[in-house]
Amino acid sequence: MQHTFLMVKPDGVRRQLIGNIVRRFENRGFVLVGAKMMTISREQAERHYGQHKEKPFFGELVDFITSGPVFAMIWRGDNLIEVSRIMMGKTNPLEAAPGTIRGDFATYVGENVIHGSDSPESAERELENFFSTDELLAAGVLSSATDRIVI
Ligand code: UDP
Repeated sequence: MQHTFLMVKPDGVRRQLIGNIVRRFENRGFVLVGAKMMTISREQAERHYGQHKEKPFFGELVDFITSGPVFAMIWRGDNLIEVSRIMMGKTNPLEAAPGTIRGDFATYVGENVIHGSDSPESAERELENFFSTDELLAAGVLSSATDRIVI
């Protein structure tokens, strides 16, 4: 059993794809244990995409992800991190297979509809960046006994 962080990006929210995306993960057998609509601060966005700080697309990426509300989610399920990455499809939608979320809904790498953590370490870091301690406790992701996120 694993937890992960998934987020419908501003393009997906604008295009009213939240329901479609949530349904795909529910149909697959995963469980939504926490969610909220929120607008990300620049600081939060820069932390989230910190690994891309030196890349030429960093400024555009931060502008885009802060351009409107996102739908931030906490999901639970078996082998969830690996399976959710497969369901999302390749980062560049032009290379994403039909049937994947990006392969079905996107054509441009800068607006590829969904984010999902790529490892347990990223999931822990990203969940802490987007959700408060109370929200993580309510979702059953944070163990009050150990004060650690349970991925
Ligand atoms: N991105 C971009 N141009 C690129 C590579 C990435 O705009 O050439 C954006 C894209 O939206 C991607 C995000 O940066 O989703 C983070 O990139 P990463 O390699 O972490 O891909 P992901 O984990 O989202 O598949």
